[in-house]
Amino acid sequence: MDVEAFRKAGYQAIDRICDFYYSLQERPVVPPVQPGYLLKQLPDAPPEEGEDWNVIADDYQKLILPGLTFWQHPNFYAYFPTACTFEGMLGDLYSTSTPNPGFNWTSSPACTELEMAMMDWCARLFGLADHFLNSSGTGGGVIQTTSSDSALVVTVAARSQYTRRHPDAKLEDLLLYVTTQTHSLGVKASLVLGLQCRVLDVKPEDEYALRGETLRAALEEDVARRKRPFFLIGTVGTTSSGAIDRLDEIGEVLKDYPDVWLHVDAAWAGVTLACPEYRDVSRLKDINTYATSVGTNLHKWGLVNFDAALLWVRSRTDLTDALDVTPEFLRTKQSEAGAVIDYRNWHLGLGRRFRSLKVWFVLRSYGVKGFQAYIRRCIELNEYFASLVKTSPSFALVTQPSFALTVFRVVADPTALGLPAPLGPDALNDLNRAFYARVSARGEIFLTQTQLNGTFCVRLAVGAERTRKEHIDRAWALIQEEAGIAVTLRETFDPSNERLRKRY
Ligand SMILES: *Cc1c(COP(=O)(O)O)cnc(C)c1O
Repeated sequence: MDVEAFRKAGYQAIDRICDFYYSLQERPVVPPVQPGYLLKQLPDAPPEEGEDWNVIADDYQKLILPGLTFWQHPNFYAYFPTACTFEGMLGDLYSTSTPNPGFNWTSSPACTELEMAMMDWCARLFGLADHFLNSSGTGGGVIQTTSSDSALVVTVAARSQYTRRHPDAKLEDLLLYVTTQTHSLGVKASLVLGLQCRVLDVKPEDEYALRGETLRAALEEDVARRKRPFFLIGTVGTTSSGAIDRLDEIGEVLKDYPDVWLHVDAAWAGVTLACPEYRDVSRLKDINTYATSVGTNLHKWGLVNFDAALLWVRSRTDLTDALDVTPEFLRTKQSEAGAVIDYRNWHLGLGRRFRSLKVWFVLRSYGVKGFQAYIRRCIELNEYFASLVKTSPSFALVTQPSFALTVFRVVADPTALGLPAPLGPDALNDLNRAFYARVSARGEIFLTQTQLNGTFCVRLAVGAERTRKEHIDRAWALIQEEAGIAVTLRETFDPSNERLRKRY
């Protein structure tokens, strides 16, 4: 493809992307395809001769688009959102037009310096303390691929810090802590590094937040059995229910255990810190006082297209002491002089994408006010949905709404079912499974299921840029309708009747 062919193909691509966005709402949010749908349409090997671009471009429309789940769809309420803005797309387009591995300052000065600046912009946007700023010269921020990568990187750094402080420690005695509600990134880091992980209990009456006393009891027990706790992941906004760990209590406990690194995973909810009114709930003060590192994803609920996982550390040498391997050919006079950051020593790979460009585009185009308005709108829409759930006799909130997330379930009214007593926990779980299966089979809105201490529940997370009140109203109508049918069928639902049981 030459430059002029690219110009033509590029115009066509943008046209088609725009047409796609105009038609998005009419498309199904989840593709109605079966496993293998694409594989059976693709040849086993690449073509011998190069193909015409128009054929390739048309195949994207014909084969790929129909198999995509549209996380940008206004009816997407599953998992957590994945950000998508045109500014973000343009950032990726420009960045990929001049690819470079960006591992040190010399490999493309703009990449390093823009990332340094954007991490400071975001730190200020979120109200993080000065010690997390790159301009502090001691702490700093880096863009990782995902929050899971961030967690792995800081676990490596924490392990290295611990073993430097305690050269006698045996690796098999090292212990990291997560809770039952921590994202799988904690257990994954322990698996990858071959370290032991202890999963701490959290309680429904604490809204699934880790309390200081639970942590203290675990620390005392583990230290008594000669284990070496060195790392704890606290979460602001857990994936299942948006729970926020009691970082105030945790921070106080850790004062007695200064070797334990506290990483705060705020992958989803961290962006709420952009709004001053949420800084108390999101525990900004505790993050600034106690966290050794903190991360949030702009690519989730932060308007920047995948991927852009922000990670800040209080002390940058914690990263470089663990990860700096500088062979002769990577030495530069700028980094020897300490004038610039060599980001390759702040993550696991060598090369890295130029992600800060899309962050720059998005933050400038939205401004702080636009960013805040988007976060507030999502939270308002969720509060509206939660109010509908709360006032309905057929539904109940399982936990308090958390920012833009509602966890709810059907609560069968025994009189409506002609039953003498409320359903037991298992029957109610069955009913909710039936309800969730019905909503999912409709394919019109996309929700996810979760389990909280054995309670089957359904999550609705608002976050797509295009979701408005009318979409929430539609979702609610559909939810009520399917719950109504599930409840009615439950009327004749007899656990001993295999035929009916099979329905679900
Ligand atoms: C989504 C999520 C993650 C994982 O994010 P990745 O960037 O995909 O690794 C981690 N923690 C929480 C709380 C999340 O919501």
